[in-house]
This record gives sequence, C-alpha cells and structure tokens, in this order.
Amino acid sequence: MTVEKSLEEKQKMAHDRANELKDTIADYREALKDMPFGFKNWPQIQKNQKRIKEYFKASDHDWENWHWQLKNRITTPDVLKELLPIDKQELDEIKETGSKFRWAVSPYYLSLIDPDDPDDPVKKQCIPSINEYLDQEGYDDPMGEEFTSPTAAITRRYPDRLIIKVTNQCAMYCRHCQRRRGIGEQDLATPREQLEEAIDYVRNNEEIRDVLLTGGDGLMLSNQNIKWLLEEIDSIEHVEIKRFGSRTLVTMPQRVDDELCRIFSEHLPLYVITHYNHPLEVTPRAREACFKLARSGVSLGNQAVLLKGVNDDPFVMRKLNQELLKMMVRPYLIFHAKAVKGTSHFRTKVEEGIEIMEKLRGYTSGLAIPHYVVNAPFGLGKTPMLPEYLVSMGKDLLKIRTWENKVLDYEND
Ligand SMILES: *Cc1c(COP(=O)(O)O)cnc(C)c1O
Repeated sequence: MTVEKSLEEKQKMAHDRANELKDTIADYREALKDMPFGFKNWPQIQKNQKRIKEYFKASDHDWENWHWQLKNRITTPDVLKELLPIDKQELDEIKETGSKFRWAVSPYYLSLIDPDDPDDPVKKQCIPSINEYLDQEGYDDPMGEEFTSPTAAITRRYPDRLIIKVTNQCAMYCRHCQRRRGIGEQDLATPREQLEEAIDYVRNNEEIRDVLLTGGDGLMLSNQNIKWLLEEIDSIEHVEIKRFGSRTLVTMPQRVDDELCRIFSEHLPLYVITHYNHPLEVTPRAREACFKLARSGVSLGNQAVLLKGVNDDPFVMRKLNQELLKMMVRPYLIFHAKAVKGTSHFRTKVEEGIEIMEKLRGYTSGLAIPHYVVNAPFGLGKTPMLPEYLVSMGKDLLKIRTWENKVLDYEND
C-alpha cells in the first residue's frame, strides 16, 4: 500500500532532483570559464581584423566583399609572418609542408586565431604542420570514391541520393581535408559539360530524390552558376530536395550576399550543410550570415569532423553544438576522421567519439546532438557509432540504461 505524498513532500523531491541535475553539469559550467569561443573572443578577433586590414590597406567595405577575401588569401610564409607571431623554425616547416600540400587562408578566418595561443584550434585547421609532411600512414583515397562515380562529377553510394561535385575550389584549404587528392594546384570549376552530364544522370534515374552540391565547396561557384544549377535541378520532377555542402559560412561568411539569398529563396526546399568544428568559429559575423540564410528559408545543418587537438573533448563538442543552435544551425553529423594521407595527426580512436556522444545525450538539448558516423571502407556508407542504451533484450522485458547510467527494467509487452 502506498501512502499519497503531500504536495510539500512532492515539491521537496522535485527540488532535490533539480539540485542533483544541476550537479551533473557543474563540471561543464566550470570548464566554460576557460574555454575560448567566438562570442567571448570577439573583441580580440576585431583587434586582429583591424591589424590585418591595415596590413592589406583594406577598407571595411573591402573586408565585407567575398571576392576581396578570396583574392587576398594568405598563401605564403612571408605574408603569414607579418600577421602572426611565428618563429623561424615553424616558418621553415610551413614552407616545407606547403611544397607538398597546398594551403590558403582567408583574412577573415586568419583573424579568428588567437596569436597568443600556441595550441589554437583555428590555427591547427588552416596553417600547415610538419606532421602532414611526415605522415606515412594515410591513404590517398580511403573512401574509394573513384569506384562510386558513375559519371565524372557524381559520387553515388546510396539508393535515393547522390553528390555532384561542382568545383574543387574552397575558400580555405582545411589541414584535415578528406578530399586532398582532388585539391590540386589549380582551382577548377567542374566543366559545364560534366555538370550537364551529371544533371542528365539525375534526370534519367527517377529514384534520385535528394541532390547534394558540393566539391570542394559548393558555394565557391558564382551566383549565376548556382542559379543555373538550381534551375536545372528543379526542372527534374522527381528531385524533392537540394543540399549545398559549404565551409564558407565558417571561413568566409561574407559569401552569403543578398543575391545568393534571393536565388536560394526561389529554390526551396534547400538545405545548406556547413562545417563548424570549434566554438571559436561561431562568431557574431558567422551568425549574421546564418541568420540571413535562415531568413531566406534555407535550413542549416552542420557536419563536424572529430579532430585531435581541435575538438576531441566532450565539453568543447557540447559547447560547439549549443553555439550552433544559437545561430539556427542544427548539428547533423560528427565524422570520424578517415586515414587520409597528411592528416594522421588529427585522428582519434572511435572510443573517443562514443564518449563525446555519451556526454551529450541527456546533458543538453536533444537538438544539440548530431549523429556520430564512420565512413565504411569501400564507399559502403556512413555508419552510426553509438553508446549502448539497450543493455539486454528479453522477450517481454528489456534492460535499458539512462543517460545518467541508471540501469532499469523496461516492460516490452
Ligand atoms: C554523405 C553522403 C551523402 C548524404 O548522406 P546522408 O546520410 O543522407 O546525409 C550522399 N552521398 C554521398 C556519396 C555521401 O558521401
């Protein structure tokens, strides 16, 4: 027989539970005090921008023009040393690595680097490291993309959707790039005939209902070419949605201009999947670009890559995903880093990714929780890696594990 509890008793229990819940994120709240992020660092970032503008003798108007950002990308140690404190040895290493792997950083992205932090997570993603040069482990094409390309510009690995690579160009060349093989010395937009061939392929295969435009970076195309592509694709009745894959929202948010937004708003439903890896990249300027796209009706998602020394920390990842939601970007994927040549120093163990997922579920909004995936060998597809919440499965009784690690019976009848 249970005795009905009084209202006071019930409220006392709720208060106790609330305090217990508060305690589960006390360590996170403490960690935030020392964690750098874009909104916190913005005054410092603005100082950096002022310095960089002075060096280039650029106006605010220039800075806000994405063509200016592209044209003035930092690509040589000589310019870099004027803008960041870098010692002779590191400059030599950059020179050496740069002879083997291309690099280019937009002035905007460079401004996010904290010059006083030798371990800066933004710097690690954009400035070449000697580890790339020394890497003997990785493969050129671990995803086997060459075997999943029915026509030149297409990668098809799934029943109802495919990728069209519209260019090999990017605003910034990520040090962890998983498609390094395709990023040569030259910027190449995919030739018009190849794009037409790809569109014909989609037209002739009625099961394709989702087309991803990527590269390189899908938003490196001109507005005019983007308009043409979207018009062509929208003329295919069986295509239901389009997606753009782009890192420009991170590395060059100036790309999101009025004309692009107008074109996008005429071609909904459209998803832009971006690639933020660290809360430092989520800045007031980035938010402006994301809001602008959102106001045009575009849905925004994020795919991060799990990178050692950048975001292989459950608290950094939690903060990143919370910061993304603040600018209307829904965390979508965390990729496990593949064994691409030149990137082995970024690789983590899968266990670390699973631990990050374990520290998300329950501790923060479900909306802030992406899927953690490994790319199966031979281009066989993204495969989710999850902490186990189903402990055992009897016919009428399950054992489940909650986010707080409480194991309970759950009736399944
Ligand atoms: C990642 C990817 C997709 C999209 O997969 P989703 O799980 O739908 O996001 C489609 N085609 C290829 C070749 C891909 O690598």
